[in-house]
Amino acid sequence: SLSSIAVIGAGIAGLSCARTLRAAGHTVTVFDKSRGPGGRLSSRRAPGAIVDLGAQYFTARDPLFQAELTHWLDRGLVRPWPTSLWRIDAQGWQPHRDTHPRYCAVPRMSALTRHLAEGLELVSEARIVDLERRPSGWYLQDDRQHRYGPFQRLAISAPAPQAEALVAAHDAVLAKACHRVEQLACWAGYALFDTPLPNLEGVERDWQAAFVNHGPLRFVARNDHKPGRGEQGESLTLLATAEWSQTWLEQPAERVADALYAALRELLPASVQPAAPRLLAAHRWRYAQPLSGAAGPGFRLGQDGLALCGDGWLGPRVEDAWCSGHRLAQRWLAMPQRDHAASRS
Ligand code: FAD
Repeated sequence: SLSSIAVIGAGIAGLSCARTLRAAGHTVTVFDKSRGPGGRLSSRRAPGAIVDLGAQYFTARDPLFQAELTHWLDRGLVRPWPTSLWRIDAQGWQPHRDTHPRYCAVPRMSALTRHLAEGLELVSEARIVDLERRPSGWYLQDDRQHRYGPFQRLAISAPAPQAEALVAAHDAVLAKACHRVEQLACWAGYALFDTPLPNLEGVERDWQAAFVNHGPLRFVARNDHKPGRGEQGESLTLLATAEWSQTWLEQPAERVADALYAALRELLPASVQPAAPRLLAAHRWRYAQPLSGAAGPGFRLGQDGLALCGDGWLGPRVEDAWCSGHRLAQRWLAMPQRDHAASRS
């Protein structure tokens, strides 16, 4: 029989889980603490520019994810990007050539998750702070004292450290599993300019992104060089390394932004320094990416129809998060209803 299912988190994992379940006829309600869907596929509207603050691009290795990607490409939702990728190390700039196709959503990263959320029942600005299990099912309570339920099944796609707080009182085994997932921080700086960056000798004029192998930065992306961004001025996203981010975790965002911008300047020869940015800021991701891939099915089943999905249960990428949510849904669909309460993975 069909059941009523709650999904906490409208990132790409929660959305892929919810869509797969809804396609099979279940009634699904998705909850997110933010104003809209997206999670770490996040884009910020700044004056005159849209800046991606989380994932800058994604790859596709899993065949199911590749099939989904084909639909997105056909619909113009995503396009290959970056196609001019560089690597900066102590020796300078070199073209970064490998065989991984990379993709980016159009006209901003969060457009992909917005598309995936279409037609789903999404309760936004609802931070779930408490769960209750009754014979009739799961009840959720948000930080504004709203109660939702009952749900026969509950998927939590929040990053493992946040999921741990929710499941602690209900499932010690799941809580312990959450505790073992190490989720690394990332400071994401962004800088907007009135004029384009000066050209660099030996580097394509329209270079789009660069891996950085020394100093605080690990990746620089030119948002205005992503597909479908329209007329926007030069805008850079500056991602810091996990180690640097951890050290600077509790520093004020303005100081962090200044430091990341100083690091960018060091990557550019003195003769081609950019004009001062018209806006410089930074966003902190406390749980940006899991340290490593995880063994197992890519999700966790708990007691009484409770389950966990998200990148922490599979690997540190957009594609892992999508697969995690999708696989959990498939597992639930393959399970006889009466077994839900008893099973674990
Ligand atoms: P999330 O997107 O975090 O979704 C979880 C959702 O749960 C969030 O929307 C959150 O608001 C919500 N939530 C949490 N707690 C609650 C609660 N109590 N109540 C209600 N809602 C709640 N991946 C790549 O493939 N390539 C990259 O280049 C890349 N770069 C990255 C750069 C950065 C700076 C970051 C942060 C990530 C990057 N990633 C990259 C990783 C990728 O973004 C993530 O793996 C993926 O987006 C995770 O999706 P998710 O659905 O598992 O989690």
